[in-house]
Amino acid sequence: MYYGYGYGYDWTVILVLIGAAISGLASLNVRRTYAKYSKLRNYRGITSNEVAEHILHAAGIYDVRIERIRGNLTDHYSPTEKVLRLSDAVYGQTSVAALGVAAHECGHAIQHQEGYAPLKLRSASVPLANIGSWVSWPVILLGFILGYTPLAQVGIFLFTFVVAFQLITLPVEFDASARALRILEQDRILEGEEHAGATKVLQAAALTYVAALFTTILQLLRMVYIVNGRRRD
Ligand SMILES: [Zn+2]
Repeated sequence: MYYGYGYGYDWTVILVLIGAAISGLASLNVRRTYAKYSKLRNYRGITSNEVAEHILHAAGIYDVRIERIRGNLTDHYSPTEKVLRLSDAVYGQTSVAALGVAAHECGHAIQHQEGYAPLKLRSASVPLANIGSWVSWPVILLGFILGYTPLAQVGIFLFTFVVAFQLITLPVEFDASARALRILEQDRILEGEEHAGATKVLQAAALTYVAALFTTILQLLRMVYIVNGRRRD
């Protein structure tokens, strides 16, 4: 490699590969779990949209629109637009997987309404995280080209914003799922096997965020090793 801290093979690529494998497995797991529970329809035949409206109205939220969005697992709540977007596999569907995901997105809408602190912090840190992920490597490489290690260390510092963003994402996601599962149970929307299925889907989704954080930490370790290894040369 051209980092110049050694000859030939850059072993730190292994860290990136481990991260990719973990993220890949988590993503495979959520797709498999979703596929399994998208075949299980709730016995009352309630649709995800009906559940979403019920949860939002019960929380006193009447200004959030529900829209359909293309793609797979692209479901999200947009706080700035006050729109809850459900993907093709969720919108209007009656599977326990669809109801779980719809309830989870409502969990985000309720967090927004309540001014849940981790959600505010997460939204506020989006620009910094974007800057960190785009410019950290170029800054590190520029530091190498100029032979100025402190600049490379600034690159590492910028990347810690990405780690911080993924860290603050965890409580936001876990809390949205916890709210969703509580409401689905309390309001007797899903019971027994159906509730257990929705729980598994949301747990698999939560794991992808843990995997993403782990992958990003491995990337950070790689940067630290490359920059410090170079300094020792
Ligand atoms: Zn979420």
